[in-house]
Amino acid sequence: MRTMKALVKAKPEQGLWLQEVPVPTVGLNDVLIRVLKTSICGTDVHIWDWDAWAQKTIPLGLTIGHEFVGVVEEVGSNVHDYARGDLVSGEGHVVCGRCRNCLAGRRHLCAKTVGVGVNRDGAYAEYLLLPVTNVWPCDPSIPLEVLSAFDPLGNATHTALSFDVLGEDVLITGAGPIGLMATAIARHCGARHIVVTDMNPYRLELAKRLGATLALDVRTQTVDAELQRSLGMKEGFDVGMEMSGNPAAFRMMLQNMCHGGKIAMLGLLPPAEIDWSLVIFNGLTLKGIYGREMYETWYKMTMMIQCGLDVTPVITHRFHYTEFEQAFAVMRSGQSGKVILDWSER
Ligand SMILES: [Zn+2]
Repeated sequence: MRTMKALVKAKPEQGLWLQEVPVPTVGLNDVLIRVLKTSICGTDVHIWDWDAWAQKTIPLGLTIGHEFVGVVEEVGSNVHDYARGDLVSGEGHVVCGRCRNCLAGRRHLCAKTVGVGVNRDGAYAEYLLLPVTNVWPCDPSIPLEVLSAFDPLGNATHTALSFDVLGEDVLITGAGPIGLMATAIARHCGARHIVVTDMNPYRLELAKRLGATLALDVRTQTVDAELQRSLGMKEGFDVGMEMSGNPAAFRMMLQNMCHGGKIAMLGLLPPAEIDWSLVIFNGLTLKGIYGREMYETWYKMTMMIQCGLDVTPVITHRFHYTEFEQAFAVMRSGQSGKVILDWSER
């Protein structure tokens, strides 16, 4: 049996373990991918921490990770669109293909999604097995590190393109990697003012580099009518992107939207008290965002990069996969953007 190195959730406690596991067997419709680079997601940090969500979701023995780029190693006999050596990334949500939404082409709304690196073996390994329906062909002119982060860039793209931002004033709450990438996309797509809020000075500094008009530390600054006036705004923000999962940030956003404003919500908010009169009387639209549209989002992010979108400042740290403990420590410190693990040198 062929084996490979993989980062496995082997024990019910904090951490990950670099182990020797079997190389997956390629089925008829599968593509085996030799992983070149992966990037670390907040989800992986939850799995590392073994928090309540991870304990009830992650089976022990799972190879984790879902943000990756690699090259095709081997394909199943039904696969005709890919050949050995093709540069690929992939969609981390494996959908059922048979429900109403899947059949209608709204695969991101499938209720029976299986998550790569969450419910089935993932990408933090020398090889990853994916159904061909989930493989995305990559433009080799795009840097590998950026391609390895196409999954979160897709979350940012899905959020930022949910509502028209051309000439609009945009409020982004939360400057984690996805909030930062959404900032760059809103700038690329012609937003007027982009105000980004967070409590992490390191990330607020990155937000400025990615195109924020203002990056505010909410511990000392607030978004209110006075701040809007200082920017020459008259009626509130047209588009909101909630990336923080922080109820206080969301309440602040609701208070600062224009009538008829539109909010895309990606941050996972806990149950929280909301002043619904702001939503109802102000005619706000709220849209929940989960994952990426398959595959319109993948198409759009590729094309935006080809016409000048630059998200490279979001990528701040690089490690060899054997240094994963350091990589996770940087990620958990908050003093980072995207952290990359390299698997290309064995
Ligand atoms: Zn489905």
